[in-house]
Amino acid sequence: MMRRVLGFTTLLTLMFCTLLPSRSSSADEMAPLSVDPQIAAAVAKVSADNLRSIDTRLVGFGTRNLFSEGSTNSKRGVFPARDWIAGQFREIAKSSGGRLSVALDTFMQPKADRIPRAVETSSVIATLKGDDPQRGIIVMSSHYDSRNSDGNDPIKDSPGADDNGSAVSAVIEAARVLAPLHFRATIVFACFDGEEQGLFGSAHYAKSLKDLGVKVEANVNNDIIGASVGHGGEQSPHDVRLFSEALPKDTALRRINQIGSENDSGARELARTLKEIDFAYLPEMNVNLIYRSDRFLRGGDQQSFADQGFSAVRYVEQHENYEHQHQDIRDENGIHYGDQLQYVDFAYLGRVTALNVADVAALASAPPAPVPGISNRELSYDSTLEWAAVPSAASYEIVWRATYEPVWTHARAIGNVTTATIKGLSKDDWIFGLRSVDAAGHKSVAAYPQPIARGS
Ligand SMILES: [Zn+2]
Repeated sequence: MMRRVLGFTTLLTLMFCTLLPSRSSSADEMAPLSVDPQIAAAVAKVSADNLRSIDTRLVGFGTRNLFSEGSTNSKRGVFPARDWIAGQFREIAKSSGGRLSVALDTFMQPKADRIPRAVETSSVIATLKGDDPQRGIIVMSSHYDSRNSDGNDPIKDSPGADDNGSAVSAVIEAARVLAPLHFRATIVFACFDGEEQGLFGSAHYAKSLKDLGVKVEANVNNDIIGASVGHGGEQSPHDVRLFSEALPKDTALRRINQIGSENDSGARELARTLKEIDFAYLPEMNVNLIYRSDRFLRGGDQQSFADQGFSAVRYVEQHENYEHQHQDIRDENGIHYGDQLQYVDFAYLGRVTALNVADVAALASAPPAPVPGISNRELSYDSTLEWAAVPSAASYEIVWRATYEPVWTHARAIGNVTTATIKGLSKDDWIFGLRSVDAAGHKSVAAYPQPIARGS
């Protein structure tokens, strides 16, 4: 937790301060984010009972395999499930004063390597319009398709209660508690199709946003977030993992190596900010940052957003149980297999949903992140940041940490300016970031400053 991290950091700073060429003052130690009462009230409205009834309904469609299709009026298959999800969002839209709209992102996925035939793929996209038309969008996502042992089997049951009925329930419940509220930025609640075959639904949607010139400020993806007991019986009712990739797409690796920004991708800055938000609103949860794009050599819909150059992260329960994922329901050698409702802990799912509600609401309430530079015009023992004023920002905050630290450890409010110098701290030894702050205290994700070269 943040307090523990800060305490440990203080200890490290005390231990190492004689080794460092410059030191940070304890007056600048990072403080927890302030709580917005409107967001705290929305977080408190998340209902484990609602989550249970949504997930139970999803499992009730028997299978949500991409190839199961099914007509609108049938009780089984992926399209009846899709139509039911869209209906839930339409019901929720009534509380939004006309600001929540519901659409399907439908296309034919052609026959391919692991795709035996062309198949209609259809994601449900609910969009809560923000008040500031200049802003980008914040996407909270999940996938609603499911699979059993054979990824393309449309016949046998594929309940997908945890993978990924848990996250679809979270997205619908988050939309319910947030739809009546106003935010600066637009929030999209997405339930993608075709994840299990290759992230098809999210890839199509993220590319269409990129093609339309829509800026995705953050993608908070959720996949397998409902179980609190692992394969070995590990109990982790208050832990969740948050994955973030290291290197943004198409980066010049040499440049990253030169300036030591390998741990400061957009996804990493987003993950650090989400951990701060999570601690402010649900201090009982441990959000464990995993500095990796996903589980080892595995993937999820956040990667479709990363592929388009957007900052994207993924929540996953702390301890997975592979006997309850991608399995035909069966008993074998005394083990029961299947992704069924009895393995979802709805109180736990409620806490992870509440983290998401706090995340997207806080990001959508904050001003956009600035685009700072750090002066390299001349050799200096100080560090100077420069940036263009951000609309809706009332002031700015510089954050920093030692190069070996995982999260920001220090922060200084610098007022409503467009350049500031931290005296006595050299960019040779510290990593700096800059965030926008509005009059109510909402803070943006911290942005990593690119060097402003000599002669510019
Ligand atoms: Zn999944």
